[in-house]
Amino acid sequence: MNALQKRIIELKTERKAIILGHNYQRKEVQEISDFLGDSYGLSVQASKTDARTIVFCGVDFMAESAKILNSEKMVLHPNLKAKCPMAAMVDVKALKDLKAEHPGAPVVSYVNTSADVKAESDICCTSANAVKIVQSLPDKKVIFVPDTNLGLYVQRFVKEKEIVLWPGYCPTHVNIRKTDLQKLKKLHPAAEILVHPECTPDVIDLADFAFSTEGIIKHIVSSPKMEFIIGTESNMLHRLRKEARGKTLYEVPNATCPNMREISLEDVRDSLQKLQFKIELPADILRKARVPLERMLEAGR
Ligand code: SF4
Repeated sequence: MNALQKRIIELKTERKAIILGHNYQRKEVQEISDFLGDSYGLSVQASKTDARTIVFCGVDFMAESAKILNSEKMVLHPNLKAKCPMAAMVDVKALKDLKAEHPGAPVVSYVNTSADVKAESDICCTSANAVKIVQSLPDKKVIFVPDTNLGLYVQRFVKEKEIVLWPGYCPTHVNIRKTDLQKLKKLHPAAEILVHPECTPDVIDLADFAFSTEGIIKHIVSSPKMEFIIGTESNMLHRLRKEARGKTLYEVPNATCPNMREISLEDVRDSLQKLQFKIELPADILRKARVPLERMLEAGR
């Protein structure tokens, strides 16, 4: 641990804070996080913590979700430039218009959405539980925002429902290309290909499995296979290599999320020192956005 990381740990203790870090954070930020996880895992940690302050190292919507689930606590987002472009692809006015076009259809929103969009949603989901959540709804038609690729993946398993898709996508996951996976497979024929449900359908068709980040970790650790081609955000490889020692992991090119890399150790230190940047949301948005998030957590139990 370097001097800056040690200073952060001291400040964290002084502030009685907890640091939640997403799997796609820089390696050095992952190292000072109390919990590492995907959006769902970190939402669970945020809902359980008794720390007074939460420093959220992830993109904007994740820090908002932590605030929604802990409205009485101080939630700090160390760098406001860390924003998810996919979450920005939905706007509330257009979502209200789509709801009017499909009256009665519940809105399932991927957690990668703003607090305003969650406030217009019936239930949230992550890539780990999207199929289960959509299956659990009694309705024949659902609106799914914002990730078209995740919605198409869900449709593979939920044939009996009509899923109304939103034209959103994750720029990092659509950069994971079938041709790059094929080249890696040619070089390493014994390797299994693991990707995320947010990848494009042709990539999912080629892969051996599509899992959430936690699902990928579990699979690699428990599998008798020794080699894997990993179609995920490249910073995730740091955690995977730590948890799956002895296994060989091959990384796909061009799969770094620049938004997740915005947060530096200096930002985390300043955040704890100056108590910046506090997430503040209007009371009605906090109240309404809490409902779909809590329904997701309830369904995940
Ligand atoms: S990886 Fe994709 S979904 Fe995640 S923060 Fe980056 S752009 Fe958003």
